Amino acid sequence: MTLLDLDTRAALAPRSISGDRLRKLVAERTGDPVLGHEAHVVSQVLPFKVSSYVIDELIDWGRAPDDPIYRLTFPHRDMLEPEHFALIEQAVAQGDRGTVRQAVDTVRAALNPHPGDQLSMNVPQHDDIDGSGMQHKYSETLLVFPRQGQTCHSYCGYCFRWAQFVDTPDLKMAMSGPEAMTRYLDLHPGITDVLLTGGDPLVMRTELLASYLEPLLEPGREHVETIRIGTKAVSFWPYRLLAGPEADDLLRLLERLTAAGKHVAMMLHLSHVAELQTDAARTALARLASTGAVLRAQAPVVRHVNDDPRTWADLWQAQVRNRVVPYYMFVERDTGARPYFGLPLARAVDIYREALQRVSGLGRTARGPVMSASPGKVVVDGVVDLDGGRAFALRFLQARQADLVGKPFFAKYDEHAQWWDDLRPHGPRDREFFGAGGNA
Ligand SMILES: *Cc1c(COP(=O)(O)O)cnc(C)c1O
Ligand code: SF4
Repeated sequence: MTLLDLDTRAALAPRSISGDRLRKLVAERTGDPVLGHEAHVVSQVLPFKVSSYVIDELIDWGRAPDDPIYRLTFPHRDMLEPEHFALIEQAVAQGDRGTVRQAVDTVRAALNPHPGDQLSMNVPQHDDIDGSGMQHKYSETLLVFPRQGQTCHSYCGYCFRWAQFVDTPDLKMAMSGPEAMTRYLDLHPGITDVLLTGGDPLVMRTELLASYLEPLLEPGREHVETIRIGTKAVSFWPYRLLAGPEADDLLRLLERLTAAGKHVAMMLHLSHVAELQTDAARTALARLASTGAVLRAQAPVVRHVNDDPRTWADLWQAQVRNRVVPYYMFVERDTGARPYFGLPLARAVDIYREALQRVSGLGRTARGPVMSASPGKVVVDGVVDLDGGRAFALRFLQARQADLVGKPFFAKYDEHAQWWDDLRPHGPRDREFFGAGGNA
């Protein structure tokens, strides 16, 4: 690709494809009109957006619908329960907007749009600071959700923040400017990490991003040692990092932060090795690394996309090759299209362990499978046979109750369990880990 091509690309913002255009695109590219119809129906409920890069360079249309990136981004019938699908399909066929709206609201409400009480818990409470775009769950880390970063260049079908992307205003949680963040930080000198997240903060213009990041360099904010930026731009829109003034300014911004002594970590969401096989993605990673930022990667293990040890081994290997440190393998949350993407914990553990065995130590740095649940981040270390029967060996990597971190504990083995709420203490000594009022 020539630089001119790249400049042209950078000028083209990714656009949402919806309704009839989605139906036609899927039908034409796959040659299957039924798939097009089904995608159209499901996209009434779950947010859908895809960039030209994903369509033209990532998806292998010869393999669709089984291509992993197609599965990752395009709506599929089985993402909804059959009765929900039928309800929406009928409403769409009737063609009355009010009926469709009502059916869509009903189905969305049934999909647990706010897993882990994100809207009510962890939001800082201060008389004179609007905490609505922040989460402060673990003492050392502040999560910041800039308003203009609450979308992505494409959407993942399994996104646990899907409810933020649909057009219901009261589902949104976001911060309108950096002042609430800086005032909160000044009142909390114990915070060492600021994590900008979304959505994808790199959908914001660099100037806006800088308005959140540059205040972290000001005197008095030395306690903020680490700045993490969560993004899937390398996979969904690498041109954000490749060419044009916006990309160059972004790299200069990251350089200023690292030169000032901050640890800058790009938290890259990478689901499949196919995302690292284009020249655009590899060049984007090299440019990011050249700023002195540390590149780390995380993604959930999900059915239809990466539920296979070889896929994870290849992904980790490709990450190491591109100077990316594997960080987390997450468990898909209990929201949205989980019936389609979700896996039993027992399967996730097998995938993790078998993938580890295939890579060298540098590729074994991802912790997983991890549930980011209400009481904390719980890693499933394995399945063990104890006196009282078979059990999951668990450990908190992070906990609301900090003294629980790092201690092994056990839950009754359940081959169908997919999430923290499905687990029960194995024995009496495990009860304290499940909390009062929790799932004890
Ligand atoms: C995962 C997470 C963090 C970061 O945890 P680390 O262990 O530092 O990676 C911070 N806040 C919340 C709410 C999280 O879910
Ligand atoms: S990149 Fe992250 S926030 Fe964006 S759609 Fe995918 S999972 Fe959701």
